[in-house]
Amino acid sequence: MSDVEAWVREFARSVVAEAPRLTELDSAIGDADHGANLSRGLTAVVAALEDSSFPDDGALLKKVGMVLVSTVGGASGPLYGTFFLRAAGSIGDGFPAAFRAGVDGVAARGKAAPGDKTMLDTLVPAAEALAAGKDWAAVVDAADAGRDATIPLVARKGRASYLGERSAGHLDPGATSAALLVTAAAVTLGA
Ligand code: ADP
Ligand code: MG
Ligand code: MG
Repeated sequence: MSDVEAWVREFARSVVAEAPRLTELDSAIGDADHGANLSRGLTAVVAALEDSSFPDDGALLKKVGMVLVSTVGGASGPLYGTFFLRAAGSIGDGFPAAFRAGVDGVAARGKAAPGDKTMLDTLVPAAEALAAGKDWAAVVDAADAGRDATIPLVARKGRASYLGERSAGHLDPGATSAALLVTAAAVTLGA
């Protein structure tokens, strides 16, 4: 198994393990489905990885993206799907480049930026730490700090934005699942 496949599988494992907590976070400022959405999608991803073999990591990541887009309803399916589809196109240039391309794809697709209280608050600082050549512990710290910084923010994108000021004081669910994506990378690619 390639390191990239191990990363995807570890992300799937951690999302399934944390699904109740992700859904609880989404119950506070969304519609209580983030854990269910992502665990359904990533369970389908793991099934697809079992069923097929891939010539390279680009093909594998493309499959991951397509499965997420087709199995996850809600905002997070197209956004994580776009992340993996865009990462697929750049994995030949190395993990930091692929991660950056994925994050840029999420920002373009969701028309969001850091500070909007979304997964990008986690993903952008992680991409910057990777680009700066930081070690994995520092990359995880950057992601976790970005996640935690969503607590006081007022959401400007997604369902949480419907709450206006009442969205402040809560951790963003997508920022929390995105931190699992980064930790999964550190555990598998940084090992
Ligand atoms: P839905 O809100 O459609 O039920 P999920 O609950 O699966 O979808 O995912 C919600 C998460 O998606 C939010 O916590 C946020 O991090 C992320 N999100 C929502 N809209 C956007 C956007 N436009 N750009 C980036 N991330 C977004
Ligand atoms: Mg939701
Ligand atoms: Mg929903």
